[in-house]
Amino acid sequence: MRPGPVLVDPLGRDRPTRHPALAIAPYRTFTLWDVLDLDSPKIPRPDGAGFAVGFDLDLTLADTRAAIGAVYAAIAAETGVPIDVDAVVRRLGPPLEDELAYWFPPERIPAMADLYRAIYPDIALPATVEMPGAAAALAAVRAAGARVVVVSGKNQRDTERTVRYLGLDVDAAVGGLFGADKGAALLAHGARAYIGDHTADVDAARAASAVAVGVATGSFDSAALAAYGADVVLPDLHAFPEWLSGFRAA
Ligand SMILES: [Mg+2]
Repeated sequence: MRPGPVLVDPLGRDRPTRHPALAIAPYRTFTLWDVLDLDSPKIPRPDGAGFAVGFDLDLTLADTRAAIGAVYAAIAAETGVPIDVDAVVRRLGPPLEDELAYWFPPERIPAMADLYRAIYPDIALPATVEMPGAAAALAAVRAAGARVVVVSGKNQRDTERTVRYLGLDVDAAVGGLFGADKGAALLAHGARAYIGDHTADVDAARAASAVAVGVATGSFDSAALAAYGADVVLPDLHAFPEWLSGFRAA
């Protein structure tokens, strides 16, 4: 195993210099390895750089409560079917079809899902905001030399749109997966930890043998996430950078 540089950006920018050899490492001198690493920034290094951290989207990085609530209100207005929007936004996370099943008979669900996805960009995107601490959490991952992968239950197109709309600094975004099914995407991207607000995100982390980090910013409070088996529970993403530095040191 070769020694790896700890990349520190003395200017405090959000991400380290692209090539390790070009980063200023104030506490050590350059070695031959720094130079040889020029063309292989994705190869995992012994110091842990090169790994990925996975994040859920809704109520982890993106506050979509008002956004999704507005879509359901529009569907209720369009169809005349009363929908308790507060109840909907209290349990965000599971697949769209699961939620629609509370309000529509099975034969209407495909059409309602189509309607939902047709109006989502115009209605939901402008009402979507970042969760507190999201940008700083992603910047902390970058500063650690790691990659960010978003894995969401939201369909692929709207997952990408949401990431773009919020300007989230991610390497990959994978949509349309829920619970343990997220595990394959996390494994494919080399995620060593998965951060999410839902107990099903604990299942996702387990399926990828990643550390399950719960954030109590969705339907589940800290006690519920811990009881379900989250390895770590944070009150919100403001606490994430400090946890990450301990995780890397461990
Ligand atoms: Mg979520």
